[in-house]
Amino acid sequence: MNCKAPRGTHDIFGINALGMSILEQKSKQIFIKHGFEEVRTPIFEDASLFTRSIGQTTDIVEKEMYVFEDRKGRKLALRPEGTASLVRAYIEHRFDVSYPSGKFFYTGEMFRYERPQAGRYRQFHQIGAEFYGSLSPSADAEIILLACDIFSSVGINQIKVHINSLGCQKCRPLFRASLIKYFSSVSDLCRDCTRRLQTNPLRLLDCKIDVHKFTDVPKMEKFLCQDCKEHFNLTQTLLKSVGCAYTVDPKLVRGLDYYTRTVFEIRSDILGAQDALGAGGRYDNLVKELGGQDTPVVGFALGSERVLIAAKKSGFFDNLNKVEKIFIAIADQELFSTAFAFCVKLTRNGLKGNNNISVFGPVDNKSLTSQLKFADKIGAAKTIVFAKDELEEGKVLVKDMKDKTQSEVLISALL
Ligand code: ATP
Ligand code: MG
Repeated sequence: MNCKAPRGTHDIFGINALGMSILEQKSKQIFIKHGFEEVRTPIFEDASLFTRSIGQTTDIVEKEMYVFEDRKGRKLALRPEGTASLVRAYIEHRFDVSYPSGKFFYTGEMFRYERPQAGRYRQFHQIGAEFYGSLSPSADAEIILLACDIFSSVGINQIKVHINSLGCQKCRPLFRASLIKYFSSVSDLCRDCTRRLQTNPLRLLDCKIDVHKFTDVPKMEKFLCQDCKEHFNLTQTLLKSVGCAYTVDPKLVRGLDYYTRTVFEIRSDILGAQDALGAGGRYDNLVKELGGQDTPVVGFALGSERVLIAAKKSGFFDNLNKVEKIFIAIADQELFSTAFAFCVKLTRNGLKGNNNISVFGPVDNKSLTSQLKFADKIGAAKTIVFAKDELEEGKVLVKDMKDKTQSEVLISALL
């Protein structure tokens, strides 16, 4: 048997598992402060949900989706992102009626068939939020700031916020037409750009291969209608009003079809090639296109693995309040059940003055020497030894494993 996780997947353990939990906890605290409520959707959905929402000609749908048939021949897909599923749930359960605040968040695994590399996996985790029902630029600003707050909650402060506006159904077609005209005049487009020129010309703007050829590209800014212009300006005013630095980036288009108006990406230089920590934007037509009421939405998703890489590099994990490991040893086998009962109390109530502990032991039928060796191996800070003589006086021996000192302590002083 091949004892290896499938290509592009990874087991999460040790400091990474701890980091993942902390990131999820901190995000939840921030979401709750902003009034967002959690929704957990299935890991797989009808494949058509993603093709319809993300768009036929996007990378995700064309190349990256895990599609399979179940035993009844239904065409299903592992979710490549969270928005489509949340919109589906929103429509299915009439969240517009039951949750008028329109604020939701999710965390979970996503699946994309991509070439694995640092910060890019086939199974990865996202944390995301969506704000339904508000056309106001304050919703866009709130979502961007929320994402920034999550990054800073895990010690990532060196971030770059890139924003752009893709306009609406009224003004974007003019921009699109002008892009097709411009790109048609560029010679030697790469294969992807040639293919996308007619179907998805906006995507050419962020082509990594042809980027140097596009010198005088038309900018969406010039094509924005009055409403979109005002919306974009006010979003920026709000960001400025709370001191959020950002760059207007005319080349930011995002890979999914459903975006309208604001799009944004938050990057970190620490990450190297895969530098996007998270991204999002507005999708004012998606709910209606999928069969719901006409409802504007703005949302974002961050990639947990990338955030953790950046958090680690920023030294966040060095400052974590580490749990103290306590090992319970026995000098006489017959004290096993007494030591066991002590362990249970310790795990339930904590050590007096220190609740941040993990408890190991007791182990039976091992010499005291080998128990102490084991305590060293697992990195115990203290070993509490149960021995007959001390126990008769209600005491145990507490060994400090680092400086090798020991002292007799009353059990009543520990519990
Ligand atoms: P990228 O340009 O890096 O491919 P994307 O535009 O495909 O990103 P989104 O669909 O917006 O990404 O997803 C939001 C976030 O999820 C990204 O900013 C990134 O942090 C993370 N992410 C996306 N794809 C992967 C992946 N294959 N592995 C790990 N994280 C990912
Ligand atoms: Mg991608």
